[in-house]
Amino acid sequence: MTEYIAIAALNQYAYCSHRCWRMFCVGEFTDNQYTIEGTSLHDRVHTFGEDNREETWKVRAIWLKSEQYNLIGKSDLIELENNRWIPVEYKRGKKGEWDNDELQVCAQALCLEEMTGTVVKTGYVYYAQTHQRQLVEISDALRQDTINTIAEVTKLIETGIMPPAVYGKKCKGCSLHDQCLPKLAQKVNKYHED
Ligand code: SF4
Repeated sequence: MTEYIAIAALNQYAYCSHRCWRMFCVGEFTDNQYTIEGTSLHDRVHTFGEDNREETWKVRAIWLKSEQYNLIGKSDLIELENNRWIPVEYKRGKKGEWDNDELQVCAQALCLEEMTGTVVKTGYVYYAQTHQRQLVEISDALRQDTINTIAEVTKLIETGIMPPAVYGKKCKGCSLHDQCLPKLAQKVNKYHED
C-alpha cells in the first residue's frame, strides 16, 4: 500500500499528469503569480476556526482522511447545514476549462462520508476573483471520475513513471513551464517515436 494520496495531487493530475509527476514524484515546485496568490489565499483560510451563522456551522482547516480511498488533505471550509456536510474549496481565480476543482471537492466529499457516516450530495468551489460559489453536485459520474483518478495517481506514485509533457492551453499559466519546456519535450518525444 502506498502512503496516503494528497487530495491536492488529484487536482494536479486532472490538470496535467506530467505536472503531478513533477510535484509529487520528483518534489519539484516553482511559484508564479498564480500560485503565490493561491498560496496566500490558502494561508488565510488554512487557519483553524469555527463559527455559527444562522443554521450553518462552519469549520476551517480541518484534516480530511479516507482509509478506503487512501486519501488525506486539509479542507478550506466545511459547513454543516440541516445535518448535511458540505465541503467548500477555495480557488484564487475564476472557473477554468478543466474539471479538476470539482474532482478535488468530490475527493473531500468521499473523506467526509467515511468520517461522518453520512452521504454528501453537494459541495462548492469558491472562486476568489469573482467572489462566486460554484455548486458541485457529487454525482455518480463525478464519483467514478474521482475514484478512477485516485487509482491513476496511486499508480503514478508507486511506479514513478513520467507521463509525457503534452503542450496545450493549460501550459500558459503553469508555474513549471520553464522547467518543463513542453513544446521542446513534445518535439523530442515525437523524434523518438518516428
Ligand atoms: S508546462 Fe504544460 S505540460 Fe508542462 S507541467 Fe505545465 S501544464 Fe504540464
